[in-house]
Amino acid sequence: MSTTVRQPSRKHSVPLSEVEQTAFCRSEDDLRPQPLLDELKVNVRWQQIPPEYQALDPETLDRRITDVKRELGQKVTILGHHYQREEIIKHVDFRGDSFKLSQNAASRPEADFIVFCGVHFMAETAALLCAPHQQVVLPNMAAGCSMSDMAPMDDVLDAWDDLAEVLDGYGTILPVAYMNTAAGLKGLCGRQGGIVCTSSNAQAALQWSYDRADRVFFLPDQHLGRNTALTLGVDRQDMVVWDPFKPLGGHTAEALRRAKLVLWQGHCSVHTRFTTRQIEAARSRFPNINILVHPECTSEVVQTADLNGSTELICKVINEAPAGSIWGVGTEINLVNRLAQANPDKTIFCLDPVVCPCSTMYRIHPAYLLWVLEELLEGRVANRITVDEDTRHHSRIALENMLRLPSP
Ligand code: SF4
Repeated sequence: MSTTVRQPSRKHSVPLSEVEQTAFCRSEDDLRPQPLLDELKVNVRWQQIPPEYQALDPETLDRRITDVKRELGQKVTILGHHYQREEIIKHVDFRGDSFKLSQNAASRPEADFIVFCGVHFMAETAALLCAPHQQVVLPNMAAGCSMSDMAPMDDVLDAWDDLAEVLDGYGTILPVAYMNTAAGLKGLCGRQGGIVCTSSNAQAALQWSYDRADRVFFLPDQHLGRNTALTLGVDRQDMVVWDPFKPLGGHTAEALRRAKLVLWQGHCSVHTRFTTRQIEAARSRFPNINILVHPECTSEVVQTADLNGSTELICKVINEAPAGSIWGVGTEINLVNRLAQANPDKTIFCLDPVVCPCSTMYRIHPAYLLWVLEELLEGRVANRITVDEDTRHHSRIALENMLRLPSP
């Protein structure tokens, strides 16, 4: 059977959010609070906000956020992802991973406004799950996620069309979208009978998909997809990585027909910094150390570690660990520092010696939080995140498929 090999559109290249990822990296722990004006010197994209907010010192920002939050009362719920900086986390009503936070928001119907201190796809997910009267606000519109940005809708639709053509008559395929995707991709999954997953339930979501189809198209994180499939016993030889910059993702039609798993060529700029060499260095320093990493790390790192799991699992394991235990952790530095502070009876440190926060999460500076809250007090909704009705409908199908999975 002949297949027309489409040339990639090349409309998209490496996302800017990926290029900007190292902008906040430091050689030592120096993530002190400072006025936004000073942080604007870091060469990344920032949303412009009124100049009076940019010059405010950390103490003034803290006091004014506390005051405006008190005045807004029950009308506002502030959500903070685990990777947010401490100056933000201290003001949030709920702290968690992206999906848990969206559920938290849904549990507060009295709040007309949900201020999501996270990245763009998280605010979109909250907008998908919240009640119709609730409005979701992202304090800084430049807070994207480089992994999510690696799977632009047009490129994914081209890939899906190519796969449908190549696989016609050769069995079925289902799309599985990690939570870290734009709402449009979750909608694609809903339309095609697929499912959304988090890092906690990726294994169940993949199994659910293999129960219904011959192969899976997993996106956007190749590492989470690969690590999860390996635990299900899928052979590496049955996996291919789809490169959106090459015709047919860089494969022959025959190779795609043989594959059980097509992985989108995306990754997390934060979690792929961890290496097996860092693990070896930590083990030679502390022979009794426990190595705990996120499944967005490479499969070599995950297989060298003692344990791997979602941010929620990392928090649970470390908080419940015995006093005196030692933990080398492979996840975002703000979370690792917070776990170390909350567990002074344990030794907890980040495996990466370079202090490198998620640069897009880090763009939620307190000046942005204050600005959106004071706008709400004035009756104006700044930076509202919305999802069109068709996308909302289909995304919710894929999310509901996920919600029916057995608990991890
Ligand atoms: S840590 Fe990675 S996946 Fe999470 S928001 Fe940052 S870039 Fe995206």
